[in-house]
Amino acid sequence: MNKTFDVNSHEFSLNEAWGSVLFEITKELGETVAKIWFSQVSPQKIENNLVIMETKQRLTRDRLSGQYNKELLECWRKHCPSITAVDVVLSEDREIFIATNEVDEQPIPPNDVPEKRSKIEDEIFIESSSHLDSRFTFNNFIVGKPNEFAHAAALSVSESEKIQFNPLFLYGGVGLGKTHLMHAIAWKIKESHPEKKIIYLSAEKFMYQFIRALRFKDTMSFKEQFRSVDVLMIDDFQFIGGKETTQEEFFHTFNALVDGNKQVIISADKSPADLENIGERMKSRLGWGLVADIHPTTYELRLGILQSKIEALNINLPKDVIEFLAAKITSNVRELEGALNRIMAHSSLVGRTITIDSTRDVLRDLIRSNEKYITIEDIQKRTCEFFGIKISDLLSSKRLKALAKARHVAMYLCKTLTTKSFPEIGRKFGGRDHSTVIFSVKKIQELCLKDADLLEDIETLKASIEGI
Ligand code: ADP
Ligand code: MG
Repeated sequence: MNKTFDVNSHEFSLNEAWGSVLFEITKELGETVAKIWFSQVSPQKIENNLVIMETKQRLTRDRLSGQYNKELLECWRKHCPSITAVDVVLSEDREIFIATNEVDEQPIPPNDVPEKRSKIEDEIFIESSSHLDSRFTFNNFIVGKPNEFAHAAALSVSESEKIQFNPLFLYGGVGLGKTHLMHAIAWKIKESHPEKKIIYLSAEKFMYQFIRALRFKDTMSFKEQFRSVDVLMIDDFQFIGGKETTQEEFFHTFNALVDGNKQVIISADKSPADLENIGERMKSRLGWGLVADIHPTTYELRLGILQSKIEALNINLPKDVIEFLAAKITSNVRELEGALNRIMAHSSLVGRTITIDSTRDVLRDLIRSNEKYITIEDIQKRTCEFFGIKISDLLSSKRLKALAKARHVAMYLCKTLTTKSFPEIGRKFGGRDHSTVIFSVKKIQELCLKDADLLEDIETLKASIEGI
């Protein structure tokens, strides 16, 4: 029997509902499809009976907004009958464990609590290599202008017998190598000082451990664990922002370690001064040691990283393709690696050699998102120019046929070329409802199947917006 959920009930749990929906999808579409397309998406919220789901993968977003949207909606409706639509949007490239302020210091739900542990230490990764990625070493880290300072600082902290900088604070944008450097430091210290106690964990895990300790009234052993280490590394510190009690605890741990001449290493996406919702005294302490930033990659660094990955993987890739990738995938190293993996996977699947053309084809979406940040306003402007109408008319409620068509096309392009959700697009089109946007997108999708002229118009318009 299908369990149904009332989305308006205060007991409603989005994740629980998603669990049932996913089970339904697996039944309907089979395990393989479910695994490939539905395992990397999660529900964010339900707004006016519209489920908003997030994924990190553009390809997944496209599939779940197009081909599988109907099935996805049907499976949702089986468990939450009031749902009328599902919108899949791209999330920022983050790994969020517990990231919302509301979660902080709330009790852990009962079914998430295992048997009370006598000690919480088994949850903490002391001297354990299992949480360190074996690929993230100094040997595998390519040094270039944007990261040479951070690299030198990391190396020096890991090699030095005396504490020179405390804390070492590494910061930079997503996918630029902060975690890689942190792990590299841990590996290096373990190598030369196997006796040293090192803890590496993300700020969310730190918070989670702390909440757990509070819940089990076991804060003494929590404190002991953290204060008895030689090196404490906290990754993605920004997630502690706004979590007052956890911050306070961290502050004391931090001071105890620094006073005891133990090394503290922290990474974050911003400099100490720019961190949001972190107390002033904490910020100032974070800046006491050495603050090193990692800048966005340059063409030369991307080329170097690609060459080293290609060597490590022992694969052949034409030089012009490597240069093409380094020139086109500029956002960060994680995406660059993803691009390389994708073209390798594609070429082994179709058994063809890799050329610039095939690369451009396979990575079309990635290249597009790297090339240009397209806004709803850009699309509206270009669409109006294309159809020879005024922006004010496009946004108005006038129902003239020519205007309606331009509006449908513009909304469709906003959905396919940007990461905006249906409600966000609706708001930018004179405050229209999300259902109007959904209707427009569907309409254009259907029309394109039978109207070759429209399809061509849209392709031309798309090309002009993308500038390619
Ligand atoms: P961050 O923690 O800053 O978000 P990561 O350390 O997770 O980024 O890096 C993302 C990916 O890019 C990892 O696979 C990492 O090995 C790789 N990477 C980043 N910078 C470099 C570099 N300079 N040399 C080699 N690989 C790198
Ligand atoms: Mg990281």
